[in-house]
Amino acid sequence: MHPDLMKRFDLTGRSALVTGGAQGIGLEVARTLRMAGASAILADLDLTATRKAAAAVGPDVGAFRCDVSDPQSVRDLAAAIGPCPDILVNNAGVGRGAPTKDTSDDDWRFVISVNLDGVFYCCRTFGSAMAERGSGNIVNIGSMCGFIVTKPENGPAYHASKAGVHMLTKAFACEWAKSGIRVNAVAPGYITTKMNSNPGNDIATWVELTPMGRLGSTEEIANIVQFLASDASSYVTGAVFSADGGYTSW
Ligand code: NDP
Repeated sequence: MHPDLMKRFDLTGRSALVTGGAQGIGLEVARTLRMAGASAILADLDLTATRKAAAAVGPDVGAFRCDVSDPQSVRDLAAAIGPCPDILVNNAGVGRGAPTKDTSDDDWRFVISVNLDGVFYCCRTFGSAMAERGSGNIVNIGSMCGFIVTKPENGPAYHASKAGVHMLTKAFACEWAKSGIRVNAVAPGYITTKMNSNPGNDIATWVELTPMGRLGSTEEIANIVQFLASDASSYVTGAVFSADGGYTSW
């Protein structure tokens, strides 16, 4: 590839913070951004697991504990890591799917507080600092569940939280467009990670419902995050990129 084209995708000299980075999609995103030249910081609930994940990505990768659903924990993270990162990837997320009649107040609050409040708190803290600085890039991990109801058992909270992430993406993109910040989202389809590893999960049906006839990989999501975080996507903001093997195109 021509070196000038490579440069558009290059993240050398930039720093990236990935929430929920101890495993799954977040860990792969950190690995990919680092391969593109960025320095990486992982933040997750379990510090020991996060340190282990960071060490696996590289010797200079930072590891911090943060609960994104707690605004003070997010502020503490910002204070602990020092200068605001150039790239923020809001990846931390949870699923606790149940039909509405079985969704308790706690279930509802738990999913909304991590998936939606967490994105708001992280954007408020780091996005505001980016706006003050006049540069920054935010990529949120939404879901195809933010566009369609995949199956009722996934529950109202997960679907509503991810639809909310897609709209937060657009709201922040418009608010900060003139401050040099781009805000985009990736909406993955079914990706094999711990989130989907419960034995009751009917993988064959997911595959059948996916036009491409297979599930996605964490790398296939990380590649899009890298594109959105780089100058190769310099005119893209407020976009929600589907990466679902065609699932939402039926
Ligand atoms: P994983 O469960 O593999 O990883 C998510 C990570 O986020 C875990 O390490 C988890 O920690 C952490 N986390 C959970 N709650 C918090 C919190 N309050 N603060 C900080 N970190 C937290 O999930 P995936 O990699 O599959 O998912 C990543 C993102 O992608 C999520 O937002 C998810 O909704 C989204 N997504 C995933 C899809 C898929 O098919 N896998 C499809 C569409 C979207 P712990 O394990 O300790 O709880």
